[in-house]
Amino acid sequence: MSDNPPKTRVVVLGGGTAGWMSAAALAKLLGPLVSVTLVESEDIGIVGVGEATLPHIRGFVERLGIDEATFMQATHATYKLGIDFRDFGRLGERYVHPFGTFGEEVAGVPFHHYWLELQRQGLAQEIGAYSLAVAASLADKFQLPTADAALTSTYGYAYQFDATLFGPFLREHATGTLGVERLEGKVIEARQDPESGDVTTLVLESGQEIEGDLFVDCSGFHSLLLGGTLGEEWEDWSQWLPNDRAAALPCAFVRDEIEAYTRCIGMPAGWRWRIPLQHRVGNGYVFASQFISEDEACSVIKAAVEGEPLAEPRVLRFRTGRRKASWRKNVIGVGLSSGFLEPLESTSIYLSQMAITYLIELFPQAGRIDPRDRDEFNRLVDLEYDRVRDFLILHFHATTRNDSEYWNYLRTMPVPDSLAEKMALWREAGRVEKYSDGLFYDASWIAVYIGQGVLPERHDTRAQLPDPDQIARAMKGLRAAIESEVAAMPGHRAFLAANAQRLATAP
Ligand SMILES: Cc1cc2nc3c(=O)[nH]c(=O)nc-3n(C[C@H](O)[C@H](O)[C@H](O)COP(=O)(O)OP(=O)(O)OC[C@H]3O[C@@H](n4cnc5c(N)ncnc54)[C@H](O)[C@@H]3O)c2cc1C
Repeated sequence: MSDNPPKTRVVVLGGGTAGWMSAAALAKLLGPLVSVTLVESEDIGIVGVGEATLPHIRGFVERLGIDEATFMQATHATYKLGIDFRDFGRLGERYVHPFGTFGEEVAGVPFHHYWLELQRQGLAQEIGAYSLAVAASLADKFQLPTADAALTSTYGYAYQFDATLFGPFLREHATGTLGVERLEGKVIEARQDPESGDVTTLVLESGQEIEGDLFVDCSGFHSLLLGGTLGEEWEDWSQWLPNDRAAALPCAFVRDEIEAYTRCIGMPAGWRWRIPLQHRVGNGYVFASQFISEDEACSVIKAAVEGEPLAEPRVLRFRTGRRKASWRKNVIGVGLSSGFLEPLESTSIYLSQMAITYLIELFPQAGRIDPRDRDEFNRLVDLEYDRVRDFLILHFHATTRNDSEYWNYLRTMPVPDSLAEKMALWREAGRVEKYSDGLFYDASWIAVYIGQGVLPERHDTRAQLPDPDQIARAMKGLRAAIESEVAAMPGHRAFLAANAQRLATAP
């Protein structure tokens, strides 16, 4: 390899969350192998929602060399320990999907089998009582997890941040520290090589031309290059995930404490989110326009928010599905340009992060795209999308709600075979499909299955081997340990205030 390999000229189209995440990560992690130019148009703007994240984002922020406390302060971020689902499985019921585990495996048998056994005997508390992340969430407490093997290491956390501030924060970092060049302007044309069909040049309204070797399409729902120029086909998943609109409405705080979780509340024609940030609460009604009108959804969200509304409701329209391939020719779609699964489990930023990670791992050597790398990228991205899709559908399908046409449709619709098989595996013997990477491991599926009232017909018989009193005592001990840990944790607001104080007094 030569001392100075030629730089691959990467052009990122779009400066929303996906665009700035891509530009910053490529510049930071590929360093001298690339030159990165990002073009964005302030006239077009960004989608400006996407406030709740998954724990993976911490690694992303860290790998960019960003200090967590500084980032949280700049984006008015709070900590997130999970999602509180209300009125999903059944009206009036609630459960938390935690970023953490329930109990621990004993003699090779996962904890939930012991719980099911105890439950069969009528001796178990709700499964959430055996999760530190759930207990801390419900008590509005927060503490950083430890890295040892103690109970305090059994959870993770993510952030809830102001979506309009995350991109600009990354922009400052990318242009100030990582050498990304930013151009302002509206792209009106993409020129292609007449033989290969590869995109060669973006032309701005001003007439400026931007040449590149690799184009990362982060143009949001416009999907200017991947969907537009290259005409990559759209795979529609709205038959399983019919929500196609959201009415977003921020409001002021009315509570003293800040919840360390996102709330998702089932509604007659969709669901609504409540995401507490440091300075306000984000709210939105995600709905299916075939079951409720936009005007009605706006009225519903206005009436539902707890604090004084800080704006008028803003309606966003979207389609659920993905482009058949995210990487086609020399264009890689990241973010909304490659697909969108509705925001119930805050997975969109994660999907951007994974696409960026895979792109970096499979990055063309010396500017030459190996079709096998491209196929592998598409395979990995497909896998991520499929798993997220199935997990999302589970929340809507595994319900007893029959109070509206919307829930009747979801409850009775046929689901993808892949999900039907997972549910059959669970229903039969409490087993969860295993995979070693990707999103949503056992604890997530268990939380949603049990939370939505889907209990297996039987469980691992090995859970009946120990003396029942011994299991009951161990479970009681675990609950007591969790309660004691939670009691010792500071309130979430107090923890955030201590962070801010540390930052203010840092040398
Ligand atoms: C209702 C809703 C709720 C959501 N909630 C969550 C959530 O809680 N968690 C989560 O992870 N995700 C969530 N998302 C998804 C999240 O908002 C997106 O993943 C994230 O904002 C990334 O968007 P983006 O950068 O792909 O697109 P955008 O923000 O739309 O950015 C597109 C960029 O392309 C530029 N552009 C477009 N056309 C041109 C042109 N011709 N010339 C120049 N520039 C152009 C625009 O100016 C902009 O800079 C939600 C989405 C919706 C719709």
